Amino acid sequence: MATIPESNVDVLIVGSGPAGLMMATWMAKCGIHARIIDKRGTKIFNGQADGLQCRTLEILDSFGIGHRAWREANHMLEICLWNPDVNGVIRRSDRIPDTIPGISRFQQVVLHQGRIERFFLDAITEASGIRVERGVMPSKLEIDESLVEDDDSYPITVTLRHLTEEEATPRQTSTSVNGQMVQDGLFRSNLANDTQDLLELSKLHDKANSEEVVHAKYLIGADGAHSWTRNQLGLKLEGDSTDYIWGVLDIVPITDFPDIRMRCAIHSANNGSVMVIPRENKLVRLYIQLTTTEKTGDGSSRADRSKINPQVILESAQRIMAPYNITYRKLDWWTAYQIGQRVGTSFSVHERVFLAGDAVHTHSPKAGQGMNVSMQDTFNLGWKVASVVKGHAKRSILKTYQSERRGIAQELIAFDHKFSRLFSGRPAKDVMDAEGISMEEFKAAFLKGHMFASGIAVNYGASLLVAKKGSNEAQGDGRQVSVANSPDKVTSDESLCGDITVGMRIQSHKVLNQADARPWHLQELLPSNGRWRVIVFAGNVNNSEQRGKLEGLAQDFGNQNAFLRASTPASAKHDEVFELLLIHNAPRTSVTIFDFPEVFRHFDEIDGWDYNKIFVDDVSYHEGFGNIYGALGIPHSGCIVIVRPDQYVSYVGPMDDTAAVSRFFGGFMTLQQQPSRVQTGLKLKNAQ
Ligand code: FAD
Repeated sequence: MATIPESNVDVLIVGSGPAGLMMATWMAKCGIHARIIDKRGTKIFNGQADGLQCRTLEILDSFGIGHRAWREANHMLEICLWNPDVNGVIRRSDRIPDTIPGISRFQQVVLHQGRIERFFLDAITEASGIRVERGVMPSKLEIDESLVEDDDSYPITVTLRHLTEEEATPRQTSTSVNGQMVQDGLFRSNLANDTQDLLELSKLHDKANSEEVVHAKYLIGADGAHSWTRNQLGLKLEGDSTDYIWGVLDIVPITDFPDIRMRCAIHSANNGSVMVIPRENKLVRLYIQLTTTEKTGDGSSRADRSKINPQVILESAQRIMAPYNITYRKLDWWTAYQIGQRVGTSFSVHERVFLAGDAVHTHSPKAGQGMNVSMQDTFNLGWKVASVVKGHAKRSILKTYQSERRGIAQELIAFDHKFSRLFSGRPAKDVMDAEGISMEEFKAAFLKGHMFASGIAVNYGASLLVAKKGSNEAQGDGRQVSVANSPDKVTSDESLCGDITVGMRIQSHKVLNQADARPWHLQELLPSNGRWRVIVFAGNVNNSEQRGKLEGLAQDFGNQNAFLRASTPASAKHDEVFELLLIHNAPRTSVTIFDFPEVFRHFDEIDGWDYNKIFVDDVSYHEGFGNIYGALGIPHSGCIVIVRPDQYVSYVGPMDDTAAVSRFFGGFMTLQQQPSRVQTGLKLKNAQ
């Protein structure tokens, strides 16, 4: 009998949708030995999710792929609300900005999921040898519980099965519409069990099957709404399945509707609602909530797909949008899918197996959240797993994945519930019409939901990684993270925070490089590569008091026992774990980089001085004045801001409390065996 090959891998990712690819991108950027498998033979080519929130664009930008999405996508700038007038005829009742002005340097855009997957795949290939292994699915999962707390062990054993080409090709990928074959998304309805179909099919192709056994340190189940991984763990999604089916049409419309290139929410008097999403390449997506479900044996409702086709969806849109006409000659993609509004009971088992994306939350597509929140799950998780695998951080940080992301998923479902009711309900005829939906309420909810939907509002609670007041260190399921009451707990100094919110992502404003005067957005200085940033806002360094504090800080940071030396491996680059950045607000031309302590401009025998760590808040030649001190409310006395590898603020404290910084990192970073090569030294010269 042939022996089954066995191998070890640090991280095994199941599923190469947006959540799995985001995880793989972190692994690639952080140099982790990882594998990513998918049962499908190809990535998706069109259709599915399309909206990219501004926070997601910031994240893609941090991986160096934001510009591709920004350039290719359709930019959505305005939302038009259309409601019935007194005669029941739809009229534009309001216009509101699509993204709240000023919350990000990006605004919401739309581009289909296949392109976004493409950008990830390219980024992964560029940074590593990781490739999506397609036509591969797991068939068995075992966890050796006796090993889960042993950092160096491989407690997870997964048997993988390689599929035949036929198995890996979804059977229903296109529909004939007017003699034209059009790709559809029916095969991936998030309530239909396609995994079982595939397993059945595989029996026909025994010869093509081959198996291997993989021992992994960590396993990520990013395998969508039917998650095989979740089922193996016996974890459940809690919540309701709705009776609504969403019909989605991607068409090049031929219409006299004047706002077809705007995002529109159209409520008709009696024929339902449609969401219009203008897309790239003259495409427009229409989302229509249909109610064509049938009862199944267990009493639940299931989509009756046979009754839905592009014509049915189009006719619904025509009724809602009348008296305007809408039709098409070109149909790019369509789908009809039933959604459940559900959240996973747990996002992780032993902090060795993690679930992310649709595997732990499903909801309606209207607010364009599915892909965004799924990617943001693994954006939260990836750097944490990478730093534990590399031995930089302790395993205790992994508990914060559930405590941070499950709450977000719960908020998402609550938002979706409310929004669904308001979007799908019939507009109230008058104030006495109790069953109807008030359009004022709809607009208010829309505006309120805007901040949430942008992804910017995410505010992580107090934890090992977020030094702020509060004891919301629960894991998202009520259990407390054991470190909650540690005597060494560090808390930020709120009086210094200004407009920085500890727990939220740091806002971006422009600063100039001290050495070459080039303007940079602050977030551009924080690429996703797994490094922590300690940003010293040093104030006016021509002021003797500030200068004194800066000298003291540099001295302390260079100390043998301080975090920088203690937690950077001797073999690592000086800034591989922590990057020290300095932003001052003395006039740029009154100082040079040699007026700053060497810890901010590391010297390398081959590369010379590091010119990319010292920045100034001053006027640029061509791009105005970022005024980061004013915008963030940085006090004259300056402050230290610790920013996590995912750009969320961990801590804000005074410049002279360097001990707090070391204590903060001491709570979860690993003490390294040998002293690092970090240099400090030169004193700040007496600058004018
Ligand atoms: P998925 O994108 O589902 O990716 C999961 C991956 O895992 C897939 O590639 C799958 O092949 C693979 N996989 C599954 N099981 C296994 C297994 N056992 N072994 C190996 N691989 C496996 N969202 C919107 O915002 N707007 C929309 O218009 C919209 N339309 C949608 C239409 C459809 C038909 C569907 C299904 C979803 C739609 N969504 C939409 C939701 C959005 O696509 C998801 O929220 C998003 O893709 C979630 O990403 P994910 O990576 O978690 O899961």
